[in-house]
Amino acid sequence: MPIDRAVDLGCHKGYPGHQVYNMPLERTLSRRRELSEFSIYPLYGPQSFPAEGSANFGIELAFPNDERTTFEKAVLFPLAGLVPAGAAHNYALGEATKALAGARFTLARDYLEDRVTRDQAMALTQKYSLVSEESALPPAALV
Ligand SMILES: [Zn+2]
Repeated sequence: MPIDRAVDLGCHKGYPGHQVYNMPLERTLSRRRELSEFSIYPLYGPQSFPAEGSANFGIELAFPNDERTTFEKAVLFPLAGLVPAGAAHNYALGEATKALAGARFTLARDYLEDRVTRDQAMALTQKYSLVSEESALPPAALV
């Protein structure tokens, strides 16, 4: 896991954005108006966009401006056994790999549509996502 994901995940999950957004929806739509379709929360449904965005607000709220990189260099890099002086290279690698983030979804689609074999999908995932063979394994639901 890239070191910047620690702050992302910690803040995203720790800030009550999802809950604050979803509680009134559930109370109003599902319970008061008895719209049972709102009692189900599909992660990739339209409700997720504002819910996930509200959770991501916790990142900037907890670490405004430069505080995040200051914290990462002072606390997380040493905890991870990384040299803080290499932070600039670490961040540059993170920026460079963001452009490849969609490769995994494209490869998953190609695998599900039989355009590539499982082994090809895994090899290409390793190449373009810079992950280990173990991390390139498709989720059990796709196997
Ligand atoms: Zn979330």
